[in-house]
Amino acid sequence: MTTEILGVNEESLRKAREYIEAGEVVAFHTETVYGLGANAFSDDAVRKIFALKGRPSDNPLIVHVHTGYDLSRLIDGEPPYAKALRRAFLPGPLTMVYPSAGKVSEYVSCGLRTLAVRVPSSPAAQAFLRETDLPIAAPSANLSKHVSPVTARHVYDDFNGLIPLILDGGDCTGGIESTVLDCTGNVPQILREGLVTREQIAAVAGDCGVYVPQQGERPKSPGMAYKHYSPRCRTAWAKSAEEALLLYQNEDMGCGKPLILCESGVIGELHGANALDLGASGEEMARRLYALLRQGEKTATLLIGIEPRERGGVMAGVMNRMLRAFGGNHET
Ligand code: AMP
Ligand code: MG
Repeated sequence: MTTEILGVNEESLRKAREYIEAGEVVAFHTETVYGLGANAFSDDAVRKIFALKGRPSDNPLIVHVHTGYDLSRLIDGEPPYAKALRRAFLPGPLTMVYPSAGKVSEYVSCGLRTLAVRVPSSPAAQAFLRETDLPIAAPSANLSKHVSPVTARHVYDDFNGLIPLILDGGDCTGGIESTVLDCTGNVPQILREGLVTREQIAAVAGDCGVYVPQQGERPKSPGMAYKHYSPRCRTAWAKSAEEALLLYQNEDMGCGKPLILCESGVIGELHGANALDLGASGEEMARRLYALLRQGEKTATLLIGIEPRERGGVMAGVMNRMLRAFGGNHET
């Protein structure tokens, strides 16, 4: 199969709709990362996503809809705070988990009775969703465990020859995945930190929890249990510039190619060691992280991440992704 990368226009949108209607999978731009989309009503199309990514069959997908889509067709009621959150943050990088009305393929939620719904703000995503006028099930458009894609080229690198079309909406401005918020209880609860912060949600909903899986319990957001965001080279995590330099020198002496990834303020402490600059603010770091991980894995034998000093707001999401990429090794 040839994989076309096309800008978003009338003709490419028509093509995308025809592929989706034929049960194919199409990659599309969103403000967070690129998505790998299929008709959420179709068992076969949804199963194709799992097969293409090599995604574990118990890691549910998010359904994407356009701003005019009547959500009540897909979910079974919502608490008052959820309505307020929708008004405040949608369209945007907030995924809301609701009781499911059971209308989409059972493969979307992997047997859970809930449904994760997102209304992306990217004009390219909206154009695609409006054109199909279908709920589109879509995870990030990367092979399972690999770093999420923030350019059409990243998607191509993982899926060339495997999908017919990538709708190129340019670079993703958000850079990390949406916040996933459980809206089935009395108080909203964050299942995955992201671009909409706990503070922002609490300011609208009055309160906001953060879910921490208990030992032995099936996690509420199964994806969080998996190894994730892994660059295709060895990785290490350092708490300081000094620690990073020790790791760096060790690798260098062993004839490897070490590379450090850190926030701007630390670059001056690295004595000229090869480094990639994540930026200074949480927003900047979120926007650059995945592109730099993908850039780093191409040349480095060891990629060393330094724990950022920056805290608060979007940094909770950035730290979560960095720990998964560099240290821990845990999601898809
Ligand atoms: P991805 O689309 O690859 O960014 O992953 C989607 C994330 O949303 C994963 O962490 C899933 O576990 C989570 N998710 C999707 N649907 C649900 C759901 N119904 N309940 C809880 N978490 C969900
Ligand atoms: Mg993903």
